[in-house]
Amino acid sequence: MHTSKFGLAVIILSLLGSGCVSPQPPAAADTAQLKLTNQTVFAVNWMQQSGEYSALSYQAFNAAEMAFIQARPKPGLKKAVVVDLDETMIDNSAYAGWQIKNHHPFTNASWSRWIEARKAKALPGAVDFSHYVNEHGGRIFYVSNRDQKDYSATVDNLNALGFADVTPQTLLLKPAGGNTNKVDRFDAVEKQGYDIAVFVGDNLNDLSGEPYHQLNIQRRDFVNRHQDEFGHKYIMLPNPSYGDWENGLSKAYSAASDQDKLKIRDKMIDAWDGK
Ligand SMILES: [Mg+2]
Repeated sequence: MHTSKFGLAVIILSLLGSGCVSPQPPAAADTAQLKLTNQTVFAVNWMQQSGEYSALSYQAFNAAEMAFIQARPKPGLKKAVVVDLDETMIDNSAYAGWQIKNHHPFTNASWSRWIEARKAKALPGAVDFSHYVNEHGGRIFYVSNRDQKDYSATVDNLNALGFADVTPQTLLLKPAGGNTNKVDRFDAVEKQGYDIAVFVGDNLNDLSGEPYHQLNIQRRDFVNRHQDEFGHKYIMLPNPSYGDWENGLSKAYSAASDQDKLKIRDKMIDAWDGK
């Protein structure tokens, strides 16, 4: 039997009216997870739509170029620049958009599917910066905590975007064994005869091993102690949508339930008392 669209609409409306079909209310745990994901909406709006985000990206790479020009490597060493990938050189905000639209939390499986799709875009100024370094006596190293299994998809994506010199020597992903502290890879670059003049990242862990797995109070202390190096040796891109600062909210955060994560986020708001 053929049912017209109008007829189908009438049937559905009358079923809804009679109470036979009703949307299932989400379970409490799902609601908490939904709220967590939805709290990134404004951050992703800003990253995808604001001119301010593009301006900060250009500003970061202009500063990185100046810092690179002015750096004097130690005698006998070559000049290197270390950059992170995600939300530093490439833009994965469409994956965050997919999470929001599909009410899906971050998972390694869906992140890997996104990487395999090779759809990350270049951050404004990032591709030109990579070429500038390599054409002016330096070498750029891409130090990322993407998994080894995502290596070839990452190479394809970076090459399609036009990044300079993406090779097994320069693209250093998370090593087998899973150590996400990048300091060993920074040391490995230096052991090849380089002096790292500039670090570029969206996470303090992209700049130094020191803030790794620290709470935000210690991470802010690291920043204060190195204040003269920002804009000179350390160049930061903004990332309000995710990062180690999130687990830095509280010692309990990373192992907390979704509901407790929401409570921690709320508790960590510094609020005027209205007086
Ligand atoms: Mg990053």
